[in-house]
Order: sequence, then structure tokens, then C-alpha cells
Amino acid sequence: MLSIKNLEVVYDDAIVALRGVSLDVPAGKVVALLGANGAGKTTVLRAVGGLLDDHDAKVTKGEIELDGVSLVGARAASIVRRGVGQVLEGRRMFIELTVEESLLVGAFTRSGRDAVRRNLDRVYSLFPQLVDRRNVHTGYLSGGEQQMVAIGRALMSEPSLLVLDEPSLGLAPRYVERVRDVVAEINAEGTSVLLVEQNARMALSVADHGYVLEDGRVVLDKAAEDLRSDSEIREFYLGVG
Ligand code: ATP
Repeated sequence: MLSIKNLEVVYDDAIVALRGVSLDVPAGKVVALLGANGAGKTTVLRAVGGLLDDHDAKVTKGEIELDGVSLVGARAASIVRRGVGQVLEGRRMFIELTVEESLLVGAFTRSGRDAVRRNLDRVYSLFPQLVDRRNVHTGYLSGGEQQMVAIGRALMSEPSLLVLDEPSLGLAPRYVERVRDVVAEINAEGTSVLLVEQNARMALSVADHGYVLEDGRVVLDKAAEDLRSDSEIREFYLGVG
């Protein structure tokens, strides 16, 4: 469903961050995008989400297609409307909003009250611990709870593809597990997922397929199972020899 071909992205007309990246997220699959700091992972997600403009970056070559239709040049809100839910770097909470208000912000593409209610119920059933916190301002939440709100907010638009930028970053281990399980649950309900992670162990435990980026290029493109047993990946990303 998502197909990226030979994508080149340049910041400030000077810094080439992606040097011809090609990757696919087939319908119904979880795809992990791994790589060291600065490899270009976040840039891929910004390009998919229509957020390059905000960072003075441009697609200078290549193509990004969702179900055969180009996303290059489309605005972020229209990309959400086309079915791409985004959980971005740093969670981007409006700390003056409550949990429930934050979730409702994510429902901007859904006008029907029943659909909004149904999606809200679904988010609360995925994250039961948010139910008691629904009237709490998000600024008072733990990092793990904020991440749940960020994921829940993206789900309010009923995305067919969910993109997540390092959802486990800075979270306590039990929250990392929870995020992993939620990705699996969302996927089991039919949503495709593009998961950017530094935590390769977590990402490869839930992914079908994985790509490793290095200096703006794809250097490995394999089934997640094969990456888990790849000796280089095991040493470099999983810390086991
Ligand atoms: P991280 O895990 O640190 O976020 P990453 O793999 O997501 O790393 P990117 O953030 O996509 O990598 O960065 C890729 C390259 O683009 C790096 O060389 C980085 O310095 C550059 N870059 C990223 N954002 C900007 C920006 N706003 N302006 C200029 N250069 C940028």
C-alpha cells in the first residue's frame, strides 16, 4: 500500500539526508525501519507525513505512493485524511489539553458523532489506564502515558497505515512491552504499520519485514526473522554476538 521509490530528500538545499531510499509497506504488515542516529529514519517519516516543509526540506528525487497515488507535495492534514495516522517524534502533546481532549483532536477527519465515540471507546479499550486519566491534563502524565495518548490520538482517524517514530524512546520497560503489544493488536485488526525504532529487539519482535538505513541509504532489506538472526544486526543493534 505504501511504496517509496528511490527517494532523495535534501535539507536547506544543502544536506542530503536520503540518497535513494526504496521501501514498501504492504497492506496488513508491520515494517520496521532501523538505523543509527542520523541515518535518515525520521526524514523518511517526515516525507511520508507531508512534514518536510516544516523542516526546510524537499523531495528532490523519487516517489512516495499510497495505493498508487503520490503523496509528494501533499499537506500533512490531507495525508491523514487519506488514511495515514502519525505518531511523531517527541510525542507533541498539547499539555494544556486533557487526555480526552487530546484524543478528540485526532478525530478531526471524522465528523460523525457515532464514529468518534466508537474510536474513543476503541482507544480506551486498548489503553484502559487512560480511562481514569481522561480529565487529566497531559502535562501531568508520565512519558509512557503520553505515548499512549499520542498513539490513541493517531488511531482516532481510523488510519489504514500507522507510522510511529521511536515510540519506545525513553519509556520504562513495561511501557515498551505495552507499546509493542499495542502495535501487534492494531495490526491484528488490519492496520499496516511503519515502525521507526532504535530498539531493534522490540521492533523486530513485532515486524514482518525490516529495513536498515545507514547514511541515507538502505543497507539491509530482509524478513524480520532473518534480521533477528543476522550476525551484524545481532551485534550492532541487539548487543548480542
Ligand atoms: P535520529 O534517530 O537521531 O532521529 P534519524 O535516523 O531519524 O536519526 P534523521 O533525523 O532523519 O535521522 O536525520 C538524517 C540526516 O538529516 C542527518 O544528517 C541530520 O543531521 C539531517 N537533518 C535532520 N533534520 C534536519 C533539519 N531540520 N535540518 C537540517 N538537517 C537535518
